[in-house]
Amino acid sequence: MPSLSFIGTGSGFPSAERFFSSTLVHLGSIHLLVDAGEPCVHLLRDRGNMIGEIDAILITHGHVDHIGGIPAFLQGAMLIERKKPLAIHLPREMISPLKAWIAALYLTEIGLGFSVSWIPWNPDAPALLEGGVSITSHANKHLVDCYRVLPGADPSKECQSYSLDIKAGNFRTLFSGDLASASELLSLVVNPATVLVSELSHVTIEELVSVLAEADLGTLCLVHLSEDMVGDRSELQGRMEELLPAIKDVIVPEDGTILDF
Ligand SMILES: [Zn+2]
Ligand SMILES: [Zn+2]
Repeated sequence: MPSLSFIGTGSGFPSAERFFSSTLVHLGSIHLLVDAGEPCVHLLRDRGNMIGEIDAILITHGHVDHIGGIPAFLQGAMLIERKKPLAIHLPREMISPLKAWIAALYLTEIGLGFSVSWIPWNPDAPALLEGGVSITSHANKHLVDCYRVLPGADPSKECQSYSLDIKAGNFRTLFSGDLASASELLSLVVNPATVLVSELSHVTIEELVSVLAEADLGTLCLVHLSEDMVGDRSELQGRMEELLPAIKDVIVPEDGTILDF
């Protein structure tokens, strides 16, 4: 039975209650970690042997609240003597900096004791995993919006940011990643999906509702809520259920929430 296990549901703001973005996707014997925000390696200790068993880490973009937990994950996997090969799918522009970071932290890839494949997203070619799992990346403009306006921004930086479409048989789960605009979800929700995990920091409720009004979705999970929205999750849930009556379940997961499908 597929399931989603929410490890960190926070926004980019530091919080004692909500940790940075990270979600486990269990598809039979295949286990995926979508984003690796801190402190995912600690929280994964409560999820069985997932540090040893995750097949692939899928990074939507290079903001620290989505990628910052990778070095600690690799060190933790080394310390528990992981042997299983690990695939890390990520924006191409992040591969060299991450490898340099790991080397700077006095780790070596050979010394980890398991092989790591660094696989850049290619929106034209889905990543195919064992068990008939396919992952399609959809580029969005989140980093263009957030980065290029910063003082001192390097105009040559590629700003690669993705939403993800994960399929396994009839189970289809969509991850918005971080967005520039809710309309970037339109091409993903044109076909039915079991579940959409959508952020709610960079898009408004109204924008999201207008994009999902016609969507054929079993479950909508709202994560990465902006700080002004976290106060009353049940109010947000009720409001979204009212605004999107065609969606069977609207859920506002907390860190630790597990959903079976
Ligand atoms: Zn984020
Ligand atoms: Zn971001």
